[in-house]
Amino acid sequence: MKARLVPPILEVRDLRKFFPVPGGGFGPRQAVRAIDGVSFTVERGQSYGLVGESGCGKSTVARCIVGLLTPDSGRITVEGEALTTGRSARGRRLHRSVQMVFQDPFSSLNPRLAIGTTLAEPLAIAGGLSRAQIRARVAELLREVGLPENAAAKFPHEFSGGQRQRISIARALALRPPLIVADEPVSALDVSVQAQILLLLDGLRIEHDLGLLFISHDLAVVRNFCQRVAVMYLGRIVEEGPVERVFADPKHPYTLALRDSSLPPDPAARDRLARIEGEMPSAIDPPKGCHFHPRCPRRMPICSVEAPAWTPFADGGVACHLHPPPDATVTPANRGT
Ligand code: SF4
Repeated sequence: MKARLVPPILEVRDLRKFFPVPGGGFGPRQAVRAIDGVSFTVERGQSYGLVGESGCGKSTVARCIVGLLTPDSGRITVEGEALTTGRSARGRRLHRSVQMVFQDPFSSLNPRLAIGTTLAEPLAIAGGLSRAQIRARVAELLREVGLPENAAAKFPHEFSGGQRQRISIARALALRPPLIVADEPVSALDVSVQAQILLLLDGLRIEHDLGLLFISHDLAVVRNFCQRVAVMYLGRIVEEGPVERVFADPKHPYTLALRDSSLPPDPAARDRLARIEGEMPSAIDPPKGCHFHPRCPRRMPICSVEAPAWTPFADGGVACHLHPPPDATVTPANRGT
C-alpha cells in the first residue's frame, strides 16, 4: 500500500473516556463508559457526521478533540501531530488548530462583550497582528458569515438565534483553523434558519478546505450535509461509511432504525419502517455482548454473549453479527437463531 503524502486533518484512534460515578460503599468503583474505543478519520475539506441518540457519547468525543476533556486513552492527531493535553506552546498551537461551534450560541457568547471584542479576543491572544489588522480581520470575519460590519459594535442580545450562530462560526474561524467541530450547531434553531446555517458552513468548508466534524442526532441533516458518517451507540461506533451508501443501504439494525425515523411521515409505509423499542440502556452497566441487543429486532442468541467484531468494507465497516468478518468463526451458518 502506498504511503499517503498528506496526513488526514483528524485521526481518532481507540479513544476511551470513562467518568467515575460518585458514591459510597465498598464495591467495585463504577464508571459511565461514555466513549469505549472510538476510531475514525476526517480528511481535509470533508464534512464528517457523527450521529446517534442523546447519551451515545458523540459530544464527549467532540469535547476530547477540542481539549475540553482529557481522554483516558487513545490517540487524537490533527494534520499528523498528536494533540497534547498540557499547556506547552505546542499543545496550545495544536489546540488552536481545532475550534468548536456549540449548540447554543447564546450561552457560548459573553453577553457583556460587544461582538467585535469577542471576535478580536482570540486574534489578540494569538499575537502578531496590529490593532488595525485585528479590526480589518474582524470586519472580514463578519462579511464571511453574512453579517454587516456594524454588527461589531452590538451585543449578543441584539441578534436573532441564527445571527448568533453566525457570530459563533465567525469566532471559530478567527484563527483560520483547518478543523472545526460543530456540536449540534442547528438543533436549537428554527427549521427555516437551520438550512441557512448549514449552507453557510458548507460554503466555508469548500472555500477554506476545512475539515468539519458535524455532531448530530439527526441522520437526515447529516445526509444532506456530510460526505461520510459514523453511527454511535452507547460509546461505540457501530457503522461507518459514505453517507449515500449508509443512508441507502444501512447494514446495522440501529442505523436502519435511525434512517427510517428520519424519513418524512408516510402512513402507507408505517408498517415497513424499522423502529427501535425502549430506551438506550445505562452506560454505567451496558448490556453484555452487543450493546444494542436488548432493543434489536434481529438479535440472535450470540448477540447477548459476544460483542460483534468490526467488519471492514471497501468503503467503511460495521459491527454486527449479521455481517461477520470473512475470517470469523461465527458465520451465518453456525450462529444459531
Ligand atoms: Fe442486532 Fe445482533 Fe447485530 Fe447487535 S449484533 S445489532 S443484536 S443482530
